[in-house]
Amino acid sequence: MRNDRALVIFSGGQDSTTCLAQAICEYGKGNVACITFHYGQKHSLEVEVAKKIAGHFGVADHTVICLDWYSQVTDSALLDPGRAITKAVDAACPNTVVDGRNMLFLLIAAIYAKRQGIRDIITGVCETDFSGYPDCRDVFVKSCNVTLNLAMAYAFRVITPLMALTKAETWALADRLGVLAYVAENTLTCYNGVVGRGCGECPSCVLRQRGYEAYMAGKKT
Ligand code: ZN
Repeated sequence: MRNDRALVIFSGGQDSTTCLAQAICEYGKGNVACITFHYGQKHSLEVEVAKKIAGHFGVADHTVICLDWYSQVTDSALLDPGRAITKAVDAACPNTVVDGRNMLFLLIAAIYAKRQGIRDIITGVCETDFSGYPDCRDVFVKSCNVTLNLAMAYAFRVITPLMALTKAETWALADRLGVLAYVAENTLTCYNGVVGRGCGECPSCVLRQRGYEAYMAGKKT
């Protein structure tokens, strides 16, 4: 069961672009809206990339929200141009964690969705690959969904299509949706702001590339 319209929390990365393609497939282009957050991230190019991708998919309702005060209340390598991003992919707590980010995004998305009469909020968070991010866990999203419903007396459904998928499985999903090449070439996941295949060195690029290779290798056999 689903509602008629959906709001996708959209960063222009591999995961949220795959979610957007799936949402358009399920709800229909005219029934999908996007919300993108500009929060002082190093790769601020991602807002431009998100606009371009939303345009490519024909999303008419794309809102960009400015949270440029975020670095005043927390610190993260993602928000600080002077801080290097931890290279270790398996680090327990990557220094790119931005405290409260997904909760803040979900809150603002929910406020916006309610005004639009939208109940389904789709986010590409995933607990499989990034276990160091506490607000990517399923238990957090479910808890936040309950809290949002209580906060606004509204029946939101926070949907996380990628929650249990590996990066390779997310590539497989993009392939099934017919957008594998588009996602590979046009999305921005790289912490150093390199579109498509990325810099090849940051933790995000390593994960993305590893998943891509695993999927392609599996496809050949
Ligand atoms: Zn990179």
